[in-house]
Amino acid sequence: MKILVVNSGSSSIKYCLFDMADESLLAKGLVERIGIRGSLLNHYPAGRDPFKKEISIPDHRKGIELVIDALLNNEYGVIKDITEITAVGHRVVHGGEKYSGSVLITEDVMKTLNKFIELAPLHNPPNILGIKVCQELLPDTPQIGVFDTAFHQTIPEHAFLYGLPYTYYEKYRIRRYGFHGTSHKYVAQRAAEVLGKDIKKLKIITCHLGNGSSITAVKEGKSIDTSLGFGTISGLIMGTRCGDIDPAIIPYLMEKESLNFEEMNNILYRKSGFMGLSEGISSDMRDLEEQALAGNQRAQRTLNVLFYGLKKYIGAYTAAMNGLDVLVFTAGIGENAPQLRKTVCQDLSFFGINIDNTKNDGLRGKEAVISTPDSRVAVLVIPTYEELMIARDTAEICNNS
Ligand code: AMP
Repeated sequence: MKILVVNSGSSSIKYCLFDMADESLLAKGLVERIGIRGSLLNHYPAGRDPFKKEISIPDHRKGIELVIDALLNNEYGVIKDITEITAVGHRVVHGGEKYSGSVLITEDVMKTLNKFIELAPLHNPPNILGIKVCQELLPDTPQIGVFDTAFHQTIPEHAFLYGLPYTYYEKYRIRRYGFHGTSHKYVAQRAAEVLGKDIKKLKIITCHLGNGSSITAVKEGKSIDTSLGFGTISGLIMGTRCGDIDPAIIPYLMEKESLNFEEMNNILYRKSGFMGLSEGISSDMRDLEEQALAGNQRAQRTLNVLFYGLKKYIGAYTAAMNGLDVLVFTAGIGENAPQLRKTVCQDLSFFGINIDNTKNDGLRGKEAVISTPDSRVAVLVIPTYEELMIARDTAEICNNS
């Protein structure tokens, strides 16, 4: 069974084709700059030379057509006929309270997804567009939706409700949803597998630290709390997003700086986090690390805020689960920043977290257990693989229908 995974964003489409017999990746690629000058396709067939084509890509339909052509191409393609693709799995950011798992896309599902646009106005529209185009171009192929929010639908009411008038939950479904669910689920499952333990008997904290970050408490295989909430802004400081702040700051700042709603939103989502705290050094962790090492205080204080936030969440989620067995680091920063892992873990020995510096130092982008053999908590680095998780869910739905 071959599964195509599509992650359709506003100006890009990422794709992967898997052979589910052994979960091998046959090809992956990226359509970039859709609707912008300089658009291009980058196609990587496994074990062969990559193929790059600069071509006008005015819309998502043209983008998906190029993906299909690349997969079928005599020279750099990986399939002979389009019917070899059993199903397409789509990443969809918001599934609201309706979807606690992946679903076969039907007309009803499309209607519901359209309703969720107001919950994820930046992400759901291009996700939905990707589905529509695939339905048009591959009308006989089942399309499956895999939601970033689904894994967090097990979060209990006491953790998903905010202390606002309850009526706003009833009227507008204002609550904690959580994101990066596919990644948290994958790395939690993979960590249990690597340790040879039953996930149903483990208390795991997964730290997905990338340009966007979230941290999740996974108890007995289920998400019970997570740091992102109604929007994609709470919790840890991120590349340009502010993380947890006192809501009182918002009206205060709006008045002081005469900001309208849009300007305020722009500050919270695009001008804060690493970029804002460092006074413009960068939204990229690599730059901050480099500058901090060179003695730049603005970079160092930004890292200090991130490290402290992480420690607080690890402590809070250990309390929420009444214990901790496994701590996992993943995504761009989690996988590639040994100094962050070391700094955060060295102050958590009280919880039974001890990492082996010889295993941690220099470890980038590779799966490994980095705790000492006598550490009560196993600490792991697990590269995230959301695409494989989407392919697995898609295959499972096909097998069961
Ligand atoms: P993601 O959103 O998962 O792609 O992660 C992006 C973040 O990972 C950015 O802040 C990058 O600076 C960071 N990152 C990627 N590679 C490295 C690296 N080698 N060292 C430190 N941070 C990295």
